[in-house]
Amino acid sequence: MSRIWNFSAGPAVLPLPVLEQIRDELLDWHGAGLGVMEMSHRGKEFTAIIEQAEADLRELLAIPANYRVLFLQGGATQQFAQIPMNLLANGLANKSADYLVTGSWSKKAFKEAQRIASVRCAGSTEGAAFQSLPELATLDLDPQAAYFHLCTNETIHGVEVPPEYVLPVNVPVVADMSSHILSRPIDVSRYGLIYAGAQKNVGAAGVTLVIVREDLLGHAAPSIPSVMDYAVMAENGSMLNTPPTFSIYVAGLVFQWLKKQGGLAAIERVNIEKAALLYACIDGSAGFYRNPVAVACRSRMNVPFTLADSTLDVAFLAESKAAGLASLKGHKSFGGMRASIYNAMSLEGVRVLVDFMNDFSRRYAGTKA
Ligand code: PMP
Repeated sequence: MSRIWNFSAGPAVLPLPVLEQIRDELLDWHGAGLGVMEMSHRGKEFTAIIEQAEADLRELLAIPANYRVLFLQGGATQQFAQIPMNLLANGLANKSADYLVTGSWSKKAFKEAQRIASVRCAGSTEGAAFQSLPELATLDLDPQAAYFHLCTNETIHGVEVPPEYVLPVNVPVVADMSSHILSRPIDVSRYGLIYAGAQKNVGAAGVTLVIVREDLLGHAAPSIPSVMDYAVMAENGSMLNTPPTFSIYVAGLVFQWLKKQGGLAAIERVNIEKAALLYACIDGSAGFYRNPVAVACRSRMNVPFTLADSTLDVAFLAESKAAGLASLKGHKSFGGMRASIYNAMSLEGVRVLVDFMNDFSRRYAGTKA
């Protein structure tokens, strides 16, 4: 078996021990005589799996007791609509919500919310090509807003909100953490609602995590489908209907793997080292490679970069692929390259990438493709 170094933005690399455990348990989970995909979601085996997954997630993120954990479907994109449906629609007709737009994903969230309710853009860095974060004091905030939405890691533009970023305190903060959840410790109590698709740092596509403060439940418009209503899902332990059982199982294994690594403080140390290596390579390349994001908000998970001579892009991609480095092509809206270095990408993988990049720039600097 030979595995590539997978820098995909998502679905993304999973920890090898997790994949091996899935393989080993595929036909017979813990002597039950059947695999997880084949189990009733109401049986005692799956009940144990989902309860353990929730307990491990609560421990990893130190989720306070007054927050509910929901395992939903529909991806983070469904949350773009489900959030205003739940937090803004009922009896709040004269209320609005504030959106901070710092990259493609928060822009999408804002646009989708506009279909559902009255929402405002409190600030946007689009005019400056999504390369920084505005100070809270410069935002046009509505003190009566039902919530303030932001994306704490913009997967395409590589902009990450650092923990010291000042957030509004008088309105619930709703955060899309899809592409950096579990990469560092966070203070959950700063947020009213956190959501994340699974296919980056959590596991396999198909399950979406929603961590919501209890007082925000029960405000949904009466007309919304019950599977979309957080309160209904919370009352039913995320099992109003059949949940994405296999993705929940995989997420649970990833949580256990994270605990074995020493939890989020330990994985953060590795993530800091990985990101520092890669940004040092980019910044030390005498302009051969370039990342335009302000240093204070550069993402540790998604590192977009361009080559000064874009005619070399084709050679970069072909040669990196030949060297076993996959999925480095940048998103079409950014161009160039992007290396996603989630929790499951090892320091060794980033070293291989950096060695390749240094070698490539040495060979091609001053040449024209
Ligand atoms: N938000 C962010 C930050 C993302 O990176 C993505 C997916 N790349 C999404 C939302 C959308 O996620 P999904 O495809 O699961 O709907």
